[in-house]
Amino acid sequence: MRQKASFSWLYIPISILIFLAFALFIERSGISYTVSHKPVEFLPPVSAAEAQMGSTFNSRETRCLILSYTDSVVQDKAYETVAAALDSMKVPYHQKNIGQTGALDIAAYDTIIISFVEFSRLSDYTDHLLEWINNGGKLMFAIRPDNSQVLREHLSEFGIAFLDPGYIESDGIEFLTAMLPGSSGQKFGLDFMIHSSLPVNLASTTILHAISADDQGVPLIWEKEYGDGKIMFVNSDQFIDKSSRGVLGAAYSALQDVVIYPVINAATFHIDDFPAPIPEGTDEKIFSQFTRDIQSFYLNVWWPDMQELQEKYNLVYSAFIIETYNYQTEPPFVYDINQQDIFQYFGGLVLRDGGEVGLHGYNHIPLCVEEDKKNQVLGYPTWPSQISMQKAVDELHQFSTGMLSGQPFTSYVPVSNMLCDQARRWLPEIVPELHVIASVYLPDVDVPAYVQEFEEADDGIIEYPRITSGYHPSDFMRWAQVNELWLHYAAGHFVHPDDVLDSYRSQGNTWLDMRETLDEYLLWLYSAMPNARNLTASEGGMAVQRYARLVPHFDCEVNICQVTLDGFYDEGWLMMRTNKTPADISSGSYVEVTNNLYLIEADEAKFEIRFKVGQ
Ligand SMILES: [Zn+2]
Repeated sequence: MRQKASFSWLYIPISILIFLAFALFIERSGISYTVSHKPVEFLPPVSAAEAQMGSTFNSRETRCLILSYTDSVVQDKAYETVAAALDSMKVPYHQKNIGQTGALDIAAYDTIIISFVEFSRLSDYTDHLLEWINNGGKLMFAIRPDNSQVLREHLSEFGIAFLDPGYIESDGIEFLTAMLPGSSGQKFGLDFMIHSSLPVNLASTTILHAISADDQGVPLIWEKEYGDGKIMFVNSDQFIDKSSRGVLGAAYSALQDVVIYPVINAATFHIDDFPAPIPEGTDEKIFSQFTRDIQSFYLNVWWPDMQELQEKYNLVYSAFIIETYNYQTEPPFVYDINQQDIFQYFGGLVLRDGGEVGLHGYNHIPLCVEEDKKNQVLGYPTWPSQISMQKAVDELHQFSTGMLSGQPFTSYVPVSNMLCDQARRWLPEIVPELHVIASVYLPDVDVPAYVQEFEEADDGIIEYPRITSGYHPSDFMRWAQVNELWLHYAAGHFVHPDDVLDSYRSQGNTWLDMRETLDEYLLWLYSAMPNARNLTASEGGMAVQRYARLVPHFDCEVNICQVTLDGFYDEGWLMMRTNKTPADISSGSYVEVTNNLYLIEADEAKFEIRFKVGQ
């Protein structure tokens, strides 16, 4: 008879294993806790009831009036930029076109923004306006007013000691205060901003926020108290396009005691055309530097370097697939490259590290037909029909699903950031799991790009634009980014692996140079963006949903603000700009981003912020 085997000796190792599993579970839970501030699911499309929220926003007491005088493109752009900044901050406002008939009634408002140049058109109202400021009104010149007699009569009220005749031209902007996150002491725009300004000497009673970045140091933005009110003076005609919304929003908020506005708090890093076929053979420059062929360079140099950056800044990569680089526009569309292993290797690593893989293109031809007249601009062929594009997108979707099984493809980046209207309409039908389209935020004079706002479209797709690009972001991109840090607390960057091979996009720089300039850019960005959330494109889209639906109401007394958030789901990120010093928050947390600017994470739809006594 066989003896019963005794397994009691197993108890010890099993206990150890159970303990280790438990410890690992705790550790994992701990890790997931630290990232629990990420949104984890898409919200269902806005219902009719929720759509009413817009009316909540509109029914808020409107205390801001934008004066416009629309007779030229510049004036329209100035008005649109101010209005877009306030829309983004959910500040309700009225518009009054002073070229139209009807009296100007300012008594109901506490803030007036002048978005046109012809200040002399207000000559009948200036005394009334100054009295209104004296009694606590806040006036902002969003664009440099003309050098007129009407202005000359009131120089001291506006903080101007001397005004020479005519105008002065100057270049770039240098911030003397931290008006925008990351802006203090920084210069921008020496090669793209040419201001036409009033040639002023300021009175010592002004607070000067910014001067021109050239040797002249022309005062560009200052504030001045007048009686119980305040004036914010923008002495430039350059802040009239989309890239400058932040600085106008900041100027508006500096007039107020407390401003609280919703933000996205998302930093995304996209790698377009990745994974994608890697050319075989060698590239002269790459070979002379690394003695490797192109594939070996990407596997053994480029990707390890990108992973080093990922670790350094806790980046989360969103990679966008190109299946093939053929120029085929007629079906059947098939996979005609033999690089499945490279595809799965890179895609798998991006996913392993918490990143996302999204769709970019079957090939690299934008989804437009001949009549759209867009592909021709960049020398691309056009598609013969909508159906052929749909079949190509379907092939991409099926191929990607086959390569990275079990992975939903919820994000799409249009090739060359171009996407024509019809394709935009049918895309969610061909890729039913699609939630996010990530193109570009800024229009580009050279590319008929699909330009987006951070918003939910009527069909439920989330528009999630990228703001900057490349391994060597230009000064203009840094300007746009610093404005977006203020306005949405959002950063969105994209690069291409093959920028290294492209002499135009690499600007003649080596990979080592490119890696270094990208590193410097990221260091600048993350230094300016405390508590930034590094999110995938899809998570960024989820954050946009929560931002887009959030409407804050705040009621402030001297030492306390009561805040109510309409459209609150599971998280609320807000920015608070105030000269007061916050002491505590009843639910949630806050961190100082820069002087007088605080990032708030609200845990509930109602909370209060207390300020230090005596502030
Ligand atoms: Zn691409």
